[in-house]
Amino acid sequence: MAVLVNAMPAPSPHVPAVASSTATGSSQDARLAAFAAELDQLKAETMAQVGEPDARYIVRLLWAIRGMETVARLMLLSAPWWPSWWLGVLVLCVSKVLQSGEFAHNVMHGQYDWMNDPRFEGKTHDWDLACTKEDWRHSHNFLHHHYTNVLGLDRDFGYGAIRLSADVPWEPRHLIQLPYAIVGALVFEWAIGVYNMELERLVTERDAEAKAQVKARIRALWPNYRAKIGFQVKKDYVLWPLLGAAVSWLLGAGPLAGALSVLTGHAMANVLRNVWNFIVIFCGHFPAGVATFEQADIQGETKGRWYLRQIMGSVNIQGGFMMQMLTGHLSHQIEHHLFPDMPSRRYVYIAPRVHAICQRYGVRYNSGSLLALWPSVAWRVLRYTLPGGQCIRQAVTLPGRAIIDDGVGDQRKAA
Ligand SMILES: [Zn+2]
Repeated sequence: MAVLVNAMPAPSPHVPAVASSTATGSSQDARLAAFAAELDQLKAETMAQVGEPDARYIVRLLWAIRGMETVARLMLLSAPWWPSWWLGVLVLCVSKVLQSGEFAHNVMHGQYDWMNDPRFEGKTHDWDLACTKEDWRHSHNFLHHHYTNVLGLDRDFGYGAIRLSADVPWEPRHLIQLPYAIVGALVFEWAIGVYNMELERLVTERDAEAKAQVKARIRALWPNYRAKIGFQVKKDYVLWPLLGAAVSWLLGAGPLAGALSVLTGHAMANVLRNVWNFIVIFCGHFPAGVATFEQADIQGETKGRWYLRQIMGSVNIQGGFMMQMLTGHLSHQIEHHLFPDMPSRRYVYIAPRVHAICQRYGVRYNSGSLLALWPSVAWRVLRYTLPGGQCIRQAVTLPGRAIIDDGVGDQRKAA
């Protein structure tokens, strides 16, 4: 299924897709060095501009999120299923989407550390999700961003449970990956919460010693996770409903009705947020045409190859301001993977220059609309429940010839 604006023909199994048109040896190295230098220059120029407007932006975003949460919880005091209750759910859901995405994910990447403000400190900020900040920094900031789409190292490629290409050997457990993914989407917050414990290895590990190490890892991580679960459950499903009960009683309505309205509203908002986050995250790296890599590909990896791998393994979601905000600027997944510590609002401004650099070096710049990307991801989850399929591993090399992209999916190679 061709969904990417710049999609190239699907590679044959185990054949690097760009191998036939690559420059080799020192000319490849020189081009990669020049490629890296252009991206370094772009980052340096952009970071030199970071300052007051970015600080103003993140402070306003924080207050907007807090304001929306307050308004939403007041709306939830109306009876469940009333229009005002649904509006409360929607506003609460949007505030939670902004909190976990545009605010927390970016703050935890250290994008605002330069402000020296504890509210925006990457190492200490904790977000409104069940995943602990320590687990997130290890599984996302380190493993995923450093080893993006490297099979066996980036566990985000299929999250240890979902087979997305023939690069992963088929096992009978993959037969149930579609219902597993659906349930995973509904409880995404909690699935990501336990993700770093690598629970699936209790099933997949054959070696007794390795299994014992997994159990030891789970025992070590569990107390921290249990504390975070407890905090989230108490906040959304005990304390806020109790406050709802008190306000409802003061207003002359029954306290039980107020408590139930707030409790069910939080549950609905969290489920909707989970499903949205699941879709956005799965569309960032799993649509058809996005590359994966083998561990041998990153041996002695240079800066140029690292940049190139990030671009080849990521895909942008096309859309305007609302899409950018509601995805936490993961609509610019490519720019985020190139410069994860750059304030996210800057991605929109640098994207045309990243695209232009890619065009000059013949690197495809993956992007597509959400309506095109998501069915492609869903199809892969369904298709790879069964054995067979295509390997999508590609060599991390610059094509020898430039690729001209006219922005509408027609890709031509120029001499
Ligand atoms: Zn990230």
